[in-house]
This record gives sequence, structure tokens and C-alpha cells, in this order.
Amino acid sequence: MLDSPTATEPAALAEPESAAVEAFSTFAQPWPAPDDTRITGVRAIVTAPEGIPLVVVRVDTNVPGLFGLGCATLTQRWHAVVAFVEEHLARLVIGRYPGDIEDLVRLARFSGYWREGPVTNNAISGLDMALWDIAGKRAGRPVYELLGGRVRAAADTYLHASGSTMEQTIERAHELVAQGFTNVRLQTGQRGIGTYGSAPSGLSARASAPYPRGWSVDEYLAQTPRLFERARAELGDEVGLLHDVHSRLSPKQAVTLARSLEAYRLFFLEDVIAPEHWDRLPEVRAASPVPIAVGELTTSVTDAARLISGGGVDLIRSHISAIGGLTPARKLAILAEFFGVRTAWHAPGDTSPIAAAANVALDVTTAAFGIQEGHVFSDQVREVFPGTIEIVDGWMTPNAAPGWGIDLDEKAAANFPPGLSAHDAWAAGVRDLSGGLIAP
Ligand code: MG
Repeated sequence: MLDSPTATEPAALAEPESAAVEAFSTFAQPWPAPDDTRITGVRAIVTAPEGIPLVVVRVDTNVPGLFGLGCATLTQRWHAVVAFVEEHLARLVIGRYPGDIEDLVRLARFSGYWREGPVTNNAISGLDMALWDIAGKRAGRPVYELLGGRVRAAADTYLHASGSTMEQTIERAHELVAQGFTNVRLQTGQRGIGTYGSAPSGLSARASAPYPRGWSVDEYLAQTPRLFERARAELGDEVGLLHDVHSRLSPKQAVTLARSLEAYRLFFLEDVIAPEHWDRLPEVRAASPVPIAVGELTTSVTDAARLISGGGVDLIRSHISAIGGLTPARKLAILAEFFGVRTAWHAPGDTSPIAAAANVALDVTTAAFGIQEGHVFSDQVREVFPGTIEIVDGWMTPNAAPGWGIDLDEKAAANFPPGLSAHDAWAAGVRDLSGGLIAP
């Protein structure tokens, strides 16, 4: 599409669908394929073995037994991703040689003209990761070898220790340390709705407020340093301590919090301000004595790259399916290496085992690796996704099998039908004491 459409364009755009598909199949690849391998199908499978809708894209080929799996999980809006994959993406790539990954994902990105956003990028991620899986299977090697091979044996991880009181939070942290984790994210409740990731510790002190369950920034700023003072004293010097603000502070409040945590030597302080204020991140980071981690809400690889090159982050934390998959994330890891920024890919329970494997493939192949968020998948997830990587003594090691080394049992997946995400209802209640909505 051009800024000034010519008279011939509408006719070209209005081709019958069958003719358009023929045109894509015939003309989209202006070089000869090295063999007869072709993509024959692209579809989305949605399953919720832990109650969280996971979206996986399966790309089939004309080679018996050769298929790929990719993560397209956008748990809050998964119907839209499924429609994008099956109604828009499939026809672009069916008939194409699966080895031209960069061209195929660029085509998927440019073909809709308007680019980026979580629905678009998660759908493309499903295709992208599935193509890398196919590439690995064709080579008979794990994906990490296609990325240049390992620079480390495994990825060190952190898990979440949460509780409605400091005692509960620190007790949970002790349990994780006993399991071999040497890094823990600490979240503890406060009155009202609690802090992000933890249950409330009681009713708000201001019972007469319009929304007594609301969040008090003053209580949060006062309580959080007390939590980390106690955690550092009780857990010792060897444990990496992390914390997630979840976008709830203003830039100035973020600096206040970061300075109050200096003595406790955090591994990182996450998402101190909302994406709407990311232009202020360089000044927040410059004034912060603790490393600043941001990025799980990036829905554009360009925005993530700007966080790195603009001096806004010490660790980049993109959710790699939300920026389009392994291909763009690999570019970010390379950029991060040159800027002295480290990676900490987002990976709680709304990340399928396929994306967890993609994260680890990046972790073990980049010098920029910082830390990996971990999630201990349930037995139900392992039943649906045979080959799911386990965390052993706090470490994640990539599968040695070709591709991701992970399968999808569709019969088992059908036992866990997805519902609509619970996030909508949760977000509706995340308000301050006045009743005003705040970032969830
Ligand atoms: Mg987070």
C-alpha cells in the first residue's frame, strides 16, 4: 500500500482468494528451494493444563513425520491469536520451503502492513518457533546448535517466593533455597489488594476510603525495604534477591524505591514504571543503585531494541513470543551483548514449554545471559508436552534431541479445554484507595 493509491491498486488487492493463494505460492519466493520439502499446514492448538490457556502453533510438512511446534501464547486474548494464525498466516506460508525462516517471518510481519502488537507477534512467534523446530529436526540437531552452539552448560533460574506476610514470603524463599534455587523473587502482601504477585495481608488502614481494598503506594514504598532488609539478614549473602513492581510507580517513586533497596544488593528490580512512561527509564536507571529490568510488556522488537540502545535497562526481559519469537529475540540478545545489557526472558506460567525451551536455547548461546525466570510445570503439562524441560537444582539445561525436543500430545491437550483468561476480572479490581484503576 502506498500513501497515494493508484487506480490499479484496488483491483490488484481485490483478487479472488484462490488466485491470491496461488500468487503467494508461486511468486513469493524468488529463488529456487534446495529440495522438495514444503509447508502443508499451519494450525493453532489451545490447551490449559494449569488453567492458563496456552496457544501452540503446529506447522506440518510434506515429509512424513516432519513438523514443528511454536509458542503463540497470549493467554488474555487467545481467540484473536488463533484466528490470526489460521485465517491469515497459514495461507502465506503453505506451499513454501520451511528453511527460509527469516523471509517467512518477514513476510508474515509485512503482509498485514500494520505491524507489531501482541496478537500479531504471538501469532508470528508460533510460526517462527515452529520453523526453527523443523530446521533442527531436519539437521538432526537441537536448535541451540543452529544458533552457534553453547557458551554455557545451563541457565541459572529464579522462582517466585510470595506470601501475604513477610514471614510467609521468607519461609517460601527458604524452601526454594533448600530445593537448590539460589535466586528468588520476593513479593509480599500489603493491606488492601496486596502487592503484585501476593495476597493481601488484611483490610486497608483507611476503611472509609471509596475503595477500601485499594492499593496504597505509600504503604508499599515503606514496606518493601523492610522486606528486603529482613530477607537479606535471614537468607544470607549468597542468595540473589529480585522484586517485581509491575509498573505501579511514577518515575520519581521508582527512584525512591530503588535507593531504599541499595543496601540489600538486589539482582534486579523489575518493571518500576509503566510502558507509557518508558521515555523516563534512562533517568530512572541512571539514578538507581540497583539493576533495572524491564521488557515483559514489549510487544515490538523495535521498542525492545530501543530500551537496550537508549540506556533504559540493565536487563532486557521481553516475553519472546510477544515480540515475534526466537528470530527477533536472537537479534536482541546480540544487541544486548554489545551494549553491556543482560537478558532475563519473561517465563512464568503463561509461557508454554515450547517457549521455555526457546528461552533456554537463547540463554545457553549468548554471552549476554543474565538470569532465566523459571516455572515448575505440573505433571499435567508434562503429559501434554512430553519432553518439557525440568529445572534441576535451579538450573535449566536444553534438550539434546533435534529441534526443541518437545512433542505435543493433542489427545491429552484436549482433556484441558481453555476458558477465557481470569486476568480480565483481576484487572478490574486493581485500583487505588480512591477507586481509580492502576496498572495490574
Ligand atoms: Mg514481571
